[in-house]
Amino acid sequence: MTFRASILSLYPEMFPGPLGTSLAGRALERGDWELALHQIRDHATDRHRSVDDTPAGGGAGMVLRADILALAIDAASPADDTRPRLLMSPRGRPLDQARVRDLAQGPGAVIVCGRFEGIDQRVIEARGLEEVSIGDYILSGGELAAMVLLDAVVRLLPGVMGNAESGALESFETGLLEHPHYTRPREFEGRTIPDILTSGDHARIDRWRREEAERLTRERRPDLWQRFTDS
Ligand code: SAH
Repeated sequence: MTFRASILSLYPEMFPGPLGTSLAGRALERGDWELALHQIRDHATDRHRSVDDTPAGGGAGMVLRADILALAIDAASPADDTRPRLLMSPRGRPLDQARVRDLAQGPGAVIVCGRFEGIDQRVIEARGLEEVSIGDYILSGGELAAMVLLDAVVRLLPGVMGNAESGALESFETGLLEHPHYTRPREFEGRTIPDILTSGDHARIDRWRREEAERLTRERRPDLWQRFTDS
């Protein structure tokens, strides 16, 4: 099954952008995933092709109109489309690896990229948009956020990542941050590789990695550590 992504944006020319290179780009060429781009402005109804208007209640900035965006969504995603409809939004649920994995196992995603102050609340409700945030900071538009989400999803699609195992041990997959990595040379500016890693004793290596993962999580991410010890 091919993962089908449909992007709704005022700047569709930003895509595939970085998703056209490396792992994701090769997967796109192979047809492991598909990318459909939709220009929201194509659904504007006036002769100025405007898509935004001033906020009801006053205040700064502009708001993307519900009626125009609804037309764009309906054109990109018919009523019987089973794909989740996402809206990139700083108010959304923070994206995490569990949601990414869940999306990668599904048929694809319809992704609305906001601009301006945001989009009219009524279209979020009327089209059942799931708001997804990529972190507690404000971007100027949803496009980069959509690329972040798609990059995370595409690398999990079957056949995309060379070594299937390297997906399973990564940070967050175990509920912990990942242990540190080392490679040749054996000595770098006076710093050596921890002896255990060159000992060939795989049980001890596994134990060391596990302890390092736990230590780093405890030190850097008390929130993750709390969840990990609670579960
Ligand atoms: N006024 C809004 C921010 C609008 S930023 C607020 O204060 O919440 C413009 C658009 O960029 C948003 O509609 C959204 O699509 C996108 N965006 C900005 N920050 C984001 C984030 N952290 N995660 C996902 N999308 C984001």
